[in-house]
Amino acid sequence: MCRQCGDIVQHRLGDDEARRSANGHFVAPTIARTEIIKPRPAAPPAAGAPAPKLAPKIVKARNMSPRAQQLRAMAAHNHRMRGRAIKKQQQRDG
Ligand SMILES: [Zn+2]
Repeated sequence: MCRQCGDIVQHRLGDDEARRSANGHFVAPTIARTEIIKPRPAAPPAAGAPAPKLAPKIVKARNMSPRAQQLRAMAAHNHRMRGRAIKKQQQRDG
């Protein structure tokens, strides 16, 4: 078929000579079906090979509810207090 005007151009089987469509366009003979078929996709990775890291990184949205913020504040406070307690103990011992 002509790509420019869509005219059907008959090519004889085994004829690799280009023909002209009704409007004079140059039309190459239809390619053999085996040449049109897409090549097979790459073989999957062998068993045991590490899987490719394709999963997108999911960033969890921060919970901004008052309760969640209070819990975070308490955790931060405890963290600071623990750090101070360790420091005090080290000063006393050392
Ligand atoms: Zn044409």
